[in-house]
Formats: sequence, structure tokens, C-alpha cells
Amino acid sequence: MKKNYLLALLLGVSSSTFSQRTLIHCGTLIDGISNAPKSQVTIIVEKNRITEVQNGYTPAQTSDKVVDMKTRTVMPGWIDMHVHIESETSKDQYLKRMSSNMADVAFESQKYAATTLMAGFTTVRDLGGSGVNISIRNAINKGLVVGPRIFTAGRTIATTGGHGDPTNGISNTYTVPDYVTNGVVDSPEEGRQAVRQRYKDGSDCIKITATGGVLSIAKNGKGPQFTEDEISAIVATAKDYGFHVAAHAHGAEGMKRAIKAGVTTIEHGTFMDDEAIALFKKHGAYYVPTIIAGKTVGDSVKVPGYYHPLVVPKAIETAKQIAETFAKAYKAGVKVAFGTDAGVFPHGYNAKEFQYMVEGGMPMMEAIKSATIVNAEILGMKSELGSVEKGKLADIVAVEGDPLKDAKAMMNVALVMKDGKIYKEK
Ligand SMILES: [Zn+2]
Repeated sequence: MKKNYLLALLLGVSSSTFSQRTLIHCGTLIDGISNAPKSQVTIIVEKNRITEVQNGYTPAQTSDKVVDMKTRTVMPGWIDMHVHIESETSKDQYLKRMSSNMADVAFESQKYAATTLMAGFTTVRDLGGSGVNISIRNAINKGLVVGPRIFTAGRTIATTGGHGDPTNGISNTYTVPDYVTNGVVDSPEEGRQAVRQRYKDGSDCIKITATGGVLSIAKNGKGPQFTEDEISAIVATAKDYGFHVAAHAHGAEGMKRAIKAGVTTIEHGTFMDDEAIALFKKHGAYYVPTIIAGKTVGDSVKVPGYYHPLVVPKAIETAKQIAETFAKAYKAGVKVAFGTDAGVFPHGYNAKEFQYMVEGGMPMMEAIKSATIVNAEILGMKSELGSVEKGKLADIVAVEGDPLKDAKAMMNVALVMKDGKIYKEK
């Protein structure tokens, strides 16, 4: 760097032309690719990229910044494939949704975005909100707001009365039907139009609700809510715009229709049966388990009045099944993409999902890959994200202790770097 400085003087350019290097000295590195952790490694970051990964602790030059993670486990930044950055569970969530303006939602979501990043999640896929999820993505990209990289579906696409119909449970005195814009479709034609609307809005991917869901004010939590031709039309149109499709599905029938129609990920998958498992494998669809969300609704439903009466039996049934399904699907060889449904539980606890995956039989190394390189690939970002390798974007996290021995270590985040910038360092 000294040489660079002299060269700068000679050339008459300011020394800031040369970027400062950050040397991360890693006690242990899990790089997202290898199954074997490496010890005593240095990651060199310049601007927003990883420029070298070297064995041993590379000595620092005068102008280098050193990040001492010699007692920590360093990993690629985690990716959560299912969050709702705009909202968070509370007893008054239904009333709140009715009385909040978009600006209120925008201010609140800033807090949730920052919390998510500080918890080690440098990238998230947002699967449904009001459209603020698009604006906050843009604001984060511009550096106006602190938060993870966001790939967003914008508004969910649902059918009339389906999980995701924003006017469920609201008196028709107060609702203005603006169906396709709101994401409510009832034919392949409307499905195509809704996808194009998402393109116009600035979404990055498409989310549909292929079956009923737990928290909507509606009776059925698992019945199918789209016909296969509707889903096929949505998937085909999505492809035209470079979107992949995520399908929320609890019940087996809706799940099967969605997989056959070519969706990329199935969210929750709670009541998948053997036939659904076989279809997952045949079509190569990914399963996003969201175990923590199922467990959280199981806890919240015990609080009297926390949920609408229509939600209560659905919450009980889902909470009972979700972890068992994960264990079965993992054992059967279904591809797993890490995702939590954050917002259904408080933002920032996303990493607890690792613990539930390990309890369900998945080794931690595999769970980490699921949350890094696997998810990067689904997002079409494998060449930029998901591993600690030369040339990739510098999204790096570290935890205290050894997560391969104790899954709880994932909740103890010591370092968060996104795009080469440090947001948290303990
Ligand atoms: Zn969700």
C-alpha cells in the first residue's frame, strides 16, 4: 500500500483512489462449498468483493483494516428465502393492517430490515406485502436504509377469498375491489395479467398461494385454491420475464398441482404426502420448510384472543405437523432451501430455523449450505453470492463458537459484512 501511496503522489491522484483492504482473520471458515471447515484462514476484501482467500493469517500492511475473528466461525452471509419484511406478528395484527397507511408500513419495515441484517441475513426473498417491499429494496440498494439485499415478490397472487386475498375478513363496505392489481385472479388470463403487473411494479419473483393458509381470516388452511391451468399460465408468463415462482402450499393437492405446473419452490409443505414427495424429486422443486413459523403459531395460539377464531384450529393443526414433515421430507431426499416466514415470528430470530433443521435430522453443514449456496442458486445469484470465494460479493457473517457442535451458536452473530461494508462487529 505504501508503494501505491508513492505512486499516487507521483501520478497526482489522491490515495483514496486505492481501496483499503480488509483482512478477516478467521479461526474457522465454512466457505459454503467444501464440506470440511478450514482453520486459520484470511479473507481479503477490497471494496465490495472478496479478492483473496489465503491459508494462515496474512500479515496486515499499514493501511489494511484487520477484523479479528480468530475465535469465531466465519461463513458466507445467510440467505432467507421466505420473509415478510413489512410486518410482524402481534395480537392486534388484523386491526393494525386495517389502520396502517403505506407510510406507516414503510417506517416499520425499516426496523425489520435492519434487525434481519444484524441477525446475519445479508440477503432475503420477500414473499408478499403491499408493495412497500419493492420500495424498501430500492432504498436499501441506494444506501438510504440499512437492510439485507432483497429479492421481492411484491404483492402475492391469490384467488378470490384465497390465502393472500387482502380483503379477507373485511366488511365489503370498506373494500374496493381492484382485483388483479391487488393480486386476486380467477382465470389463466388474469394470472398472466397479474404476473405482468408484478413486472411493471418492479418485483423480482412471483409468489402464489396454491392452498389455504394459517393466518388468513378464512376457514380452510390446506385446500387447493388454484387450478393447474391457472398455475401453468402464471409459471409460463413468469418465465417470459425471468421470474421464478414460489408457491405457498400446506395441503398436498395444491402442492402437487403447483409442482406439476413448474414452480421453483414450495413454501411450508406442511401436509405433503408420499406422492407429493415423489413429485418434488421428479421435478426438482425445492422445499422451504419454515419450521420456526409453524412452531411460533403453535405458541401464539395458546394466548387467548391472539388469533381470529377462524385461524385457531388451523394454527393448532399446522404446528403439530410441520417439524415431522421436515424430518420425513429431508430423509426422503427432497431438496431443501432455507426459509423461515419471518414476520409470522419476530424478525431477527430467523437463525433459530437452523436448530430446528438439525433437530429434524439435517446436519448443520448441509443446513448452512441450504442457507447460502443453494439459495444463491435459486435466486440466480450463484456467481455473486452464497460462498466465500475469490471474486464473489463480500457478504460475510461470523458466529461465536462452533455451530457444527452446537446449533445455538447461529444465534450469536459476531460479524455482519454486506457488500464489503461492516454492519456489526463484536
Ligand atoms: Zn409467508
